[in-house]
Amino acid sequence: MSGGGKKYKIALIPGDGIGPEVTREAVRVLNAVGGSFGRVFEYTELPAGGAAIDAAGEPLPAETLETARAADGVLLGAVGGWRWDGLPGDKRPEAGLLGLRAGLGLFANLRPAKLIPALASACPLKATGDIDILVARELTGGIYFGEKGRDGDSAYDVERYSRGEVRRIAGVAFGLAAGRRGRVTSVDKANVLESSRLWRETVIEAARDYPGVELEHMYVDNASMQLIRDPSRFDVLLTSNMFGDILSDEAAQITGSIGLLPSASLRADGFGLYEPVHGSAPDIAGKNIANPCAAILSAGMMLRYSFGLTREADALEIAVYAALEDGIRTADIAAPGGPAVTTEEMGEAIANKITALR
Ligand code: NAD
Repeated sequence: MSGGGKKYKIALIPGDGIGPEVTREAVRVLNAVGGSFGRVFEYTELPAGGAAIDAAGEPLPAETLETARAADGVLLGAVGGWRWDGLPGDKRPEAGLLGLRAGLGLFANLRPAKLIPALASACPLKATGDIDILVARELTGGIYFGEKGRDGDSAYDVERYSRGEVRRIAGVAFGLAAGRRGRVTSVDKANVLESSRLWRETVIEAARDYPGVELEHMYVDNASMQLIRDPSRFDVLLTSNMFGDILSDEAAQITGSIGLLPSASLRADGFGLYEPVHGSAPDIAGKNIANPCAAILSAGMMLRYSFGLTREADALEIAVYAALEDGIRTADIAAPGGPAVTTEEMGEAIANKITALR
């Protein structure tokens, strides 16, 4: 927990489409948290993605990466849009985001999937219990980054993991579980894959440093089934890059709208980049109707994981749930034909809840 007087430097990358609209509300809510808890957040706004292509001719200007590196945390809206779709891969807005993740050395992707009581009816499952899952996914190794190629009529992608890579994501997962319900489910396919056998051995070794955390192993096919059968049994799901890509989308869907899902990408020292799971939603950009909750909850993850401000992060989450409990809804989560508020009104309602909580 950081002491009073510290200024938290936030690199703010609004990006494209609805990115500027939702990050504006995240800043509003962060400032309400700051006012209530006596914390000072300082923002430096930086271009990346399509906005940076328009302003500087490239999706990730060197100054953006440099300033982000010097910050205490990075908050990003979303990048991309139809206007830049014709550009080659390395010149597209998404290259800016990949460059940021790589340039900042972020290897752990965290995606919480938590069922918000007020929105339980959005859950596609009949009986749920309390769903509060955190997927800790390895982000820089595995089959997505292994050797790939074509050989005559064949094609191949290599899944390769080193002990060091597995150990560092396992350390993140165990550390997080220690602060939650104390349970890690490590997902692999160790009955078939050699890389999974190394994964399992290494996770068992890493677990020795966390005697208070319970470890179980689960094959990926079983994990995908158990997520639907009884999602409330999971606390932290520890996964490789590809298994996590798939399972985190499955877990997310259990909890409802894309407008509510935050994410974090972390380094070992706790530094991180925080962003909503959704994209830039060009179809609704500029209309003041996007749901800012995912961006606001992403800012909450920054308070929790990079700044160590647990009480503040709890207050932010409680405020989001309280506003939803009051029936305040943007169009994406409103009842069919029911009333909907604007992006700004949703942000204001959550900020007011924070002020009222204190
Ligand atoms: P998207 O997430 O932007 O939109 C999918 C659908 O969900 C759309 O109908 C959109 O209106 C809706 N939606 C998304 N966020 C919402 C919110 N906060 N409130 C209400 N409705 C919301 O995905 P897409 O349409 O596949 O992609 C659009 C652009 O975003 C593309 O250029 C894509 O490359 C980019 N993208 C960026 C990121 C990122 O920056 N991390 C992630 C995904 C997609």
